Amino acid sequence: MTKYFQSKGLLESLSLLLPVSLFYAVWILAEFCILINIEFDKSPAMIALLLLLGYLTWTLCEYIGHRYIEHRPLDGKKVPAWVIDWSPHVEHHHQPEIPDDVFDIHQSGLIVTGAGLLFMLLSHNIATTCILHTGFILGYLGYEWIHIGGHCPIMGKRRLLKFLFKNHHRHHTVNGNGFYGTSGPLWDVVFRTYR
Ligand SMILES: [Zn+2]
Ligand SMILES: [Zn+2]
Repeated sequence: MTKYFQSKGLLESLSLLLPVSLFYAVWILAEFCILINIEFDKSPAMIALLLLLGYLTWTLCEYIGHRYIEHRPLDGKKVPAWVIDWSPHVEHHHQPEIPDDVFDIHQSGLIVTGAGLLFMLLSHNIATTCILHTGFILGYLGYEWIHIGGHCPIMGKRRLLKFLFKNHHRHHTVNGNGFYGTSGPLWDVVFRTYR
């Protein structure tokens, strides 16, 4: 057991991911509390669909941000200094074995808040916004766990996780201009970067 906890990267990974996970668990709980205190008539199927839509919105944001923002300096393109300050992605590609590429809470908080405002603006409905937003946050948390977990060798025991971790490792080792989707290959297939 001691050996298990001393394995490379596990404690670092957990120490990086627990604060952000707890922070967003509280956020999701708050949205759940709003939902049970307002009247809305959505079927379980509609709730599941909205959760999925929120999740997919996150994965699309992740793909676009990774490909078109975080990779600009790696591709030799000019970027404002704040972009490099915002994301240590260049360093992450140079030292992928160091699991520290997690958004600061003020950064992810901005993205998550922006998504919530956008959902509210588009739907004009609090219940729809809360459900979409919960899917978005779960997508974000999943991304962090998959990414950091993928750089922590002992976490990938399940077949799906193994597949996702391998997918991200291809981005680091096979083609840095492909396999952008850390949460999964969906948008790489759609935009033809799954190569
Ligand atoms: Zn990258
Ligand atoms: Zn990585």
